[in-house]
Amino acid sequence: MKALVYRGPKNVRVENVPDAKIEQETDCLVKITSTNICGSDLHMYEGRTSVEEGKVLGHENLGAVVEAGSAVRRVKTGDVVCLPFNIACGYCKNCERGYTGFCLTMNPGSAGAAYGYAEMGPYQGGQAEFLRVPYADFNCLVLPEGAEDQEDDYVMLADIWPTGYHATELACLQPGESVVIYGAGPVGLFAAYSAILKGASGVYVVDRLKDRLRLVEEIGATPIDDSKGSPVEQLKELTGGAGADKGCECVGYQAHDVSGDEHSNMTLNNLVESVKPTGRIGIVGVFPSEDPKSKDKLEKQGKITFDIGKFFEKGLSMGSGQCNVKAYNRHLCDLIAAGKAKPSFLVSHELALDEAPEAYKHFDERDAGWTKVVLKPDARKAAGVRERSGKSKVSPIRKHEQAKSAGTRG
Ligand code: NAD
Ligand code: ZN
Repeated sequence: MKALVYRGPKNVRVENVPDAKIEQETDCLVKITSTNICGSDLHMYEGRTSVEEGKVLGHENLGAVVEAGSAVRRVKTGDVVCLPFNIACGYCKNCERGYTGFCLTMNPGSAGAAYGYAEMGPYQGGQAEFLRVPYADFNCLVLPEGAEDQEDDYVMLADIWPTGYHATELACLQPGESVVIYGAGPVGLFAAYSAILKGASGVYVVDRLKDRLRLVEEIGATPIDDSKGSPVEQLKELTGGAGADKGCECVGYQAHDVSGDEHSNMTLNNLVESVKPTGRIGIVGVFPSEDPKSKDKLEKQGKITFDIGKFFEKGLSMGSGQCNVKAYNRHLCDLIAAGKAKPSFLVSHELALDEAPEAYKHFDERDAGWTKVVLKPDARKAAGVRERSGKSKVSPIRKHEQAKSAGTRG
């Protein structure tokens, strides 16, 4: 089968690899029809992880079940399924408590497994024609009828929307509270989208990339452009000096200043300044336990200088970690099915698998307009640059409601 393979820093290729197949009777085999490139893939692409050459990448996957092992009961051939990026057993102590991002079974010696990712177990990714799904009954989210016509919405359930949602959950964001989000990449945009769905009173998103800040505005949040001055000062100005009730970190260890110099501690320390006393911060941006390619001595060991004094003084708290996708994907799926959410607003490109190497390059360079790429291994489904309907300032949530009340299906 054809798959996108990691061959070294900034070098990914589409190659013929051995076919994915059923290895355990609890597996199923999925023919992939939509698979996203994620900001997390870029850490590997840039050579900033230990990922081995030959790994098939891709952890945001959707497709149709073409074969099920003899022990699979619930999932049937023909089901259209979205796969959480976490691979979980469903029966370990962490899975039992809903922490499927920290499964103790699937990646022995560590907590948490994923498709096509460094240090997350031996599993191949789904930027390929087929994918093996372990513990299919537990891991597959079977999508409602008609999902094939809305794949760009449903594929966002594999990672990026639940992860944005998780940031707001880790921050314990309540209706009526305000939140500041650092990073307007796909994760930050979905944190903002989730905060709006939850009824936040103010949603502020910091970045410097104009196309992403435009999207922030389109979904009904307030952009803060940190190339125009301190984001903390701008937020204070927007909130009468108070700052935000809650904060979300959606950038990770490759956070940089506007001239491009990396400072892993930058967003975290800005959040300490931005959030009101007794507030809470949710961290979903990735911080690895070591980063040998960093130029900074501390950061090489996965450490940072953190404003603990101010953090303590303000009585702040924080939560962090991988998203437990399964904790949210069914409810978020129901929002799509009910026409109350349209997460495909983020998709800028639908491309064939063969175009993936080029797409990695553009997405990695954060080229204008490359907000989210969905790869279509069945090239007939690749539409190229995707028309965004949302040129207006109307939030995609409200826009969708308007479309529905006008009698059309979005
Ligand atoms: P992305 O790289 O596309 O977006 C990051 C954004 O942050 C960019 O728009 C960039 O301009 C902006 N940025 C950089 N430095 C900044 C700073 N100092 N202040 C404000 N903004 C800054 O990536 P993404 O797909 O949105 O992912 C974001 C992070 O979330 C990555 O670290 C990714 O690995 C991580 N992630 C975590 C999980 C999880 O389960 N916890 C899941 C998916 C992704
Ligand atoms: Zn991802």
